[in-house]
Amino acid sequence: MEEASVDKMVEQEDTTVLRSTYQFLDTKRRAALDKLLDIKGSIRVFCRIRPFNSVENWRNSFPVSVETDKIKIKSLGSKKEFVVDRAFDQNSTQEDIYKEVEPVIKSAFDGHNVCVLTYGQTGTGKTYTMEGVQRNPGIVLRAMKELFREISQEKCENYTLTMSMLEVYMGCLKDLLAPKQHPLRMDPATKSNISIMSRNNGTVEIEGLTDAEIMNFKQASRLYDKGRRARATSWTNVNETSSRSHCLTRIIIREGEKGKVISKIWLVDLGGSERLLKTGAIGQTLDEGKSINLSLSALGDVIAALKQRKHHVPYRNSKLTQILSDSLGEGSRVVMVVHTSPSEDDLLETICTLTFAKRVRSIESNRELSEETKKIRQKRIAELGHIIEEAEKELQILKMQIEKAESPITEKNQAQFADVSPRSPLVLEQVEFTESSQNTKQILKTLGPKTKPRFMAPTASSQQRQSAAGESIKNLKNSKYGNKRNMNFSGSQSLSVTGPFTSNLKSRSVDQGPRGVSLSSNIPAVRNSLPRHRRRISAC
Ligand code: ADP
Ligand code: MG
Repeated sequence: MEEASVDKMVEQEDTTVLRSTYQFLDTKRRAALDKLLDIKGSIRVFCRIRPFNSVENWRNSFPVSVETDKIKIKSLGSKKEFVVDRAFDQNSTQEDIYKEVEPVIKSAFDGHNVCVLTYGQTGTGKTYTMEGVQRNPGIVLRAMKELFREISQEKCENYTLTMSMLEVYMGCLKDLLAPKQHPLRMDPATKSNISIMSRNNGTVEIEGLTDAEIMNFKQASRLYDKGRRARATSWTNVNETSSRSHCLTRIIIREGEKGKVISKIWLVDLGGSERLLKTGAIGQTLDEGKSINLSLSALGDVIAALKQRKHHVPYRNSKLTQILSDSLGEGSRVVMVVHTSPSEDDLLETICTLTFAKRVRSIESNRELSEETKKIRQKRIAELGHIIEEAEKELQILKMQIEKAESPITEKNQAQFADVSPRSPLVLEQVEFTESSQNTKQILKTLGPKTKPRFMAPTASSQQRQSAAGESIKNLKNSKYGNKRNMNFSGSQSLSVTGPFTSNLKSRSVDQGPRGVSLSSNIPAVRNSLPRHRRRISAC
């Protein structure tokens, strides 16, 4: 019993220290991420150019050229230049885009509301970037995968994710995940049973919207498919499956089941921004187009007002901006990916799209940074990126360590609980003792020095402390006070062993006992683990 409890303490100490180290590194990583996003700006605009499609004539002169943060347009002898936060050319991949969006998604765990929007003329790849295709998923599925990965990696088992999908169509809201619409419960004026409630504290609630808990990535992607299928489409002569509505996917991170909201992530595939003249739309499709244009210009007004830190932000001018109002403003992280076509035929639309982008990032473009400032900024971004990358690598290793260290403990606890009732205390203690010595060996094997992270290797001074602790254990054992009924170890170890069968132990040397458990110098890894880990905690 006594040695079993020593084992248990050692094991628990191991995982506690690993967990503390994990927490420390994770805090460091998050702080660096926060700084990085602050430097980059809380509202960022990217531009992606779609590759030529099968009907476009790529032999025509290509009017759009791309630099890292610039789009240049040449047309009829004149040149226009648009500055964005990041430009993606025709060869850019879904990974390239997600890589830039990823830090923003991760910042949701730090309590920032996130909003990622795709904007552009119909047929320029908004849905491709947001949804992707089966072989090459877009931002939504990649973000979901990331969120589940973060939750499992951080062992935040008490975080829950819920998902909603909403379509804003001609000013009406449609719940894309609703099991079925209840016509009687719908508001006859808006044909919807969903309403937007803005609270005094600035948060927004969408009443009546399905908010489904998602337990894993597979379930989440099935639900997302369901929502996508429910999205309304109609035909115009711009694109045969043109999206005539805005599609919004919301993920809420909560602490505990239905508990406190940590943050919201909105992933928004906006309706096509083309001017109505170009579509040749009539009737309902014309009305759809007008409605989309109104809400897009309202969105532009809101973002421009936020960027200029205006006192009044006109959220109320459209349903879209009302819904997003708590995820666009202060404390939120916003990314807008504007999309353009490479074709000369779409040049005017491309210019309109880039003018919108310029307006959205108006403050930055009004006062462009000097080359020197840009260099310093880039250097700082690279440094922070490096810190984040290193911390992520270490966290990965620690996660494996924690998993390895914890699995034998769980097995052992289960075995002990299964054995408790039928045995007399004496028999129970003997069985425990034997089992725990096997388990300890197993832990020692898993936690062997080779598997420990680099920074947890003992230094020369910690080795000295360990051998001093070993010495004091030996002295104690040899002294006449070496009674195992109440043992206290000096130095950085403090172990207390009690139990009714200690007389049995008294006659047995701890070094030589057949049960072979680890109070003395025979098994150094257990003896060493406590001082080494304590050192790490104090370093944190
Ligand atoms: P939008 O949503 O803006 O109307 P879509 O996403 O539907 O446009 O894209 C129109 C077509 O172009 C689709 O067939 C899509 O697969 C293709 N497409 C768009 N962007 C890309 C890209 N970057 N790479 C490959 N195909 C693309
Ligand atoms: Mg689309």
